[in-house]
Amino acid sequence: MAGRLADLDARISAAAREAGRDPATLTRIVVTKFHPAGLVERLHGLGVRDVGENRQQELTAKRAELPDLDGLRWHFIGQVQTKKARAVRAAADAVHSVDRDRLADALHAADPDGVPLEVFVQVNLTDDPARGGAAPGDVVRLADHIATRCPSLRLRGVMAVAPLSGAPAAAFERLAASAQAVRTVVPDAAWISAGMSGDFADAIAAGATHLRIGTAITGPRPAHG
Ligand SMILES: *Cc1c(COP(=O)(O)O)cnc(C)c1O
Repeated sequence: MAGRLADLDARISAAAREAGRDPATLTRIVVTKFHPAGLVERLHGLGVRDVGENRQQELTAKRAELPDLDGLRWHFIGQVQTKKARAVRAAADAVHSVDRDRLADALHAADPDGVPLEVFVQVNLTDDPARGGAAPGDVVRLADHIATRCPSLRLRGVMAVAPLSGAPAAAFERLAASAQAVRTVVPDAAWISAGMSGDFADAIAAGATHLRIGTAITGPRPAHG
């Protein structure tokens, strides 16, 4: 895994330089979903400090199993049922998948006076409303709601997954436009969470600041049920 991690980081740096960007400005999140807590521990030993999970129960369990890993930040990147918001808030350092007012309100209500939770508004880049994310036309309104009504959430930017079909580059350009629009209401929400194992170079070219990389580093995910 150390070899895959080093190789991936070299590819990220090359893609950044190709795009005229400084690789040091990118955060590489290793997506550890479906892997045991021991894998997170090994990654931490290799210097990884940002990991991503997409299911609340798994996040909660792994974090409880690994209380002492110095400086490790847990990013929640999956769909959240509103009733799970409290558990997500308790276990996550950042939530990339805020896509509706009710979820933002529930995350805020879970710890209104606590350490601010970093959040991203997830943007749906597909035509399928069942996929996660707010419709692009609703993103600025949602960002404004978070900024004005949810003071314990710190809006940092936008997040998306490229559609399964079509060119990821075009989708990431649409995401960059949403990011610009959000900055008209929250000027310092400058982060863009985009790019996975198969499309991170396109995401970097379109301005991604936070990459979510799973299989290219961890190898195939174990089966899950
Ligand atoms: C699983 C997942 C990833 C990582 O995907 P890979 O193709 O394994 O790199 C990134 N983002 C989200 C939202 C995911 O669910």
